[in-house]
Amino acid sequence: PKPLAGRIALVTGAASGIGKAIATRLVAEGACVVIADLDLEKAQAAAAELGNTDVAIGVQANVTSEEDVQASVDAALLAFGGLDLVVNNAGLSLSKSLLETTVADWDLQHDVMAKGSFLVSRAAARVLIDQKLGGDIIYISSKNSVFAGPNNIAYSATKADQAHQVRLLAAELGEYGVKVNGINPDGVVRGSGIFAGGWGAKRAAVYGVDEEDLGKYYAQRTLLKREVLPENVANAVFVLCTGDLSHTTGLHIPVDAGVAAA
Ligand code: NAD
Repeated sequence: PKPLAGRIALVTGAASGIGKAIATRLVAEGACVVIADLDLEKAQAAAAELGNTDVAIGVQANVTSEEDVQASVDAALLAFGGLDLVVNNAGLSLSKSLLETTVADWDLQHDVMAKGSFLVSRAAARVLIDQKLGGDIIYISSKNSVFAGPNNIAYSATKADQAHQVRLLAAELGEYGVKVNGINPDGVVRGSGIFAGGWGAKRAAVYGVDEEDLGKYYAQRTLLKREVLPENVANAVFVLCTGDLSHTTGLHIPVDAGVAAA
């Protein structure tokens, strides 16, 4: 059998970019996946690409809404009969400096990433505790949760909030066999809606390079001189939720080709 056969996953923000790569990998390894995203059409299209209702369903969910989050968890129970793995991936970046950041900007960043992942983890934890089968909660945090990036105060602060959720939930849910870990990507330009939606242009301006050269720019500043792709983040999710890392919780894995270590 495939390594994740019989596992049921919920991935937020999985209609695009890193989340979509994660959903794709999980299905390839035998799991069934609920693709929950703000954008229903894209969520359903992503599910259709993966083979549809037997292995993947797309649902509309704003992670800032308690009702939407509960409905996403319920969708996993209804469609696939359980829940084993949750990936807090939904996110956005406004890429603003301190002086540019409005209260509305601050609230939006924190609503989607800090509050959103709290709501998803809480709804999921109720099921995981009740099932008594353990499970995994994984946060797609960021290198920026630890290291200061320019012009990104609200984004980075909320990523740091997510990092602390990882540590707190690892402590709180350990006795139920639920592992909670984070992944810190950096510079995933290709395939990322965040980069395509304006962040890339702003980053390129900050670093003084053309936007089309941003992937190369990020690659040259890494230790490995490699561009990080959505699939590289998906690989880390896969490794975290196979039995091979059964004794690892409260950890953050960098997927940044070595930038944080430089
Ligand atoms: P993306 O824009 O391709 O994917 C984000 C997805 O989240 C989109 O499909 C979007 O519709 C969805 N989303 C946004 N707000 C939502 C909400 N309120 N409720 C539900 N879904 C919502 O971007 P990506 O680069 O794939 O980013 C995915 C995650 O990875 C984010 O949390 C991001 O902060 C994190 N991350 C990305 C990078 C990178 O280099 N791209 C680096 C570090 C961390």
